[in-house]
Amino acid sequence: MEKFEVIVVGAGLAGLAAAWKLAEKGVEVLVLERGDYPGAKNVTGGRLYVNPVRDLFPDLWSAAPLERYIVHEGATLMARDRSVAIDYSGDELKAEPHQSYSVLRGKFDRWLAEQVEAKGAMLLTKVRVDDVIMENGKVAGVLAGGDELKADVVIACDGVLSLVSEKAGLRKPGLPKDYAVGIKEVITLDAGVINDRFRLEGNEGAAHLFVGDVTKGCFGGGFLYTNKDSISLGLVAGIHEYAGIGPSTDVPGLLEAFKKRPEISSLIRGGSTAEYAAHVIPEGGFRAISPLYGNGILVAGDAAGFAVNIGFTVRGMEYALASGYYAGETVLKSKEKGDFSAAALSLYQRLLEESFVLQDMKNFQEAPGVLSNERLFKHYPELAGNLLKDIYAVPAGPKGRLYPTLRKALTLGEMWAQFKDMREVMKI
Ligand SMILES: Cc1cc2nc3c(=O)[nH]c(=O)nc-3n(C[C@H](O)[C@H](O)[C@H](O)COP(=O)(O)OP(=O)(O)OC[C@H]3O[C@@H](n4cnc5c(N)ncnc54)[C@H](O)[C@@H]3O)c2cc1C
Repeated sequence: MEKFEVIVVGAGLAGLAAAWKLAEKGVEVLVLERGDYPGAKNVTGGRLYVNPVRDLFPDLWSAAPLERYIVHEGATLMARDRSVAIDYSGDELKAEPHQSYSVLRGKFDRWLAEQVEAKGAMLLTKVRVDDVIMENGKVAGVLAGGDELKADVVIACDGVLSLVSEKAGLRKPGLPKDYAVGIKEVITLDAGVINDRFRLEGNEGAAHLFVGDVTKGCFGGGFLYTNKDSISLGLVAGIHEYAGIGPSTDVPGLLEAFKKRPEISSLIRGGSTAEYAAHVIPEGGFRAISPLYGNGILVAGDAAGFAVNIGFTVRGMEYALASGYYAGETVLKSKEKGDFSAAALSLYQRLLEESFVLQDMKNFQEAPGVLSNERLFKHYPELAGNLLKDIYAVPAGPKGRLYPTLRKALTLGEMWAQFKDMREVMKI
């Protein structure tokens, strides 16, 4: 039976960040990944906001295989037959250091794993962890493919449906309302064509979110990110809608319909699909975070439920990187004391509370409740589309005055409903 100082389960961003921190300090760390290579099974939209994690990994960013830095932020309210879009750009988005980048996980995670191995961590791929080894109420290692692998501490970074933390008795299976399913295509296109279509120069990039008809008025939305020579296009839909608890939703069908929308088809014309992926996303927010530590175990990234969706930003990757980092830091302190009990590992919770990770999760804890209002996905895109249709219309006869045109849509009942919705939105 093999014994290691630390076993990390999962070579996603959380696992690789934890291994990085530990290997850098000479700790013997084994990373187990079920995919053929790190990033093979990992899905993101994806855009990474670098500012919150820049200083945690100072050597990383200059050489990282990031795609494009985002200079255009777009949002579209998509009604059935029309749409209303905003496009934001500002000098600060063009200034260095850049706030956010598009990323492709197949490339980024693989590269990060190489850096982690260069620091001395051992990475084994195509190894699925099936269970944890419990000894005297403490996690003492893992079972993988019939092998018993022991460790002083296990860090569960095995993603959103974390089997490891469940087997360790830390969390129970989640509720459908706490998850969404994301589906995505990477569509290759010439870099020059991307620049022309999205009004970009050099390595500038665009990010665009869509809400409304893209999910047929249900919870969720679409996304589009420009990469160097491809476009990441996809959508996210609430699992409770998909699971037949609400109106049934055919998610792959939604993506096909999204691609055929005139707003999208002209942007991806001539491209070919290089990648097709689907993945679950934690959507439960602060209230759905799992216990973060136990005797001999820490939980990081999606496995802990660290993701924040506030409609116009969707974030999980930097929480994964930062929580992995703080898990590594906690283990270093525990190692100094030779104590891997839950009491010693509780330092992890404190480090996260002092960081942006749990502060963001707390600040946006009302977001899942606010976003469960279906008027945001059904009513407002239609309302905005119809308002603009009437405002822009020029009939054969005289055109109606503007104010009565607005009031036709914004009745007293509608304004009262909007006031109530706004009171909810103000909680975010
Ligand atoms: C469609 C979609 C769009 C998203 N968009 C964005 C975005 O734009 N920006 C953003 O910041 N976040 C986004 N997210 C969220 C973000 O991708 C996640 O928060 C992030 O990937 C979490 O990283 P992680 O390391 O915790 O988990 P993962 O990246 O899921 O890594 C977990 C790893 O564990 C491995 N594993 C699992 N079980 C086992 C096992 N039993 N044994 C061995 N290995 C195992 C997996 O193969 C995987 O490599 C999006 C997610 C989706 C699905």
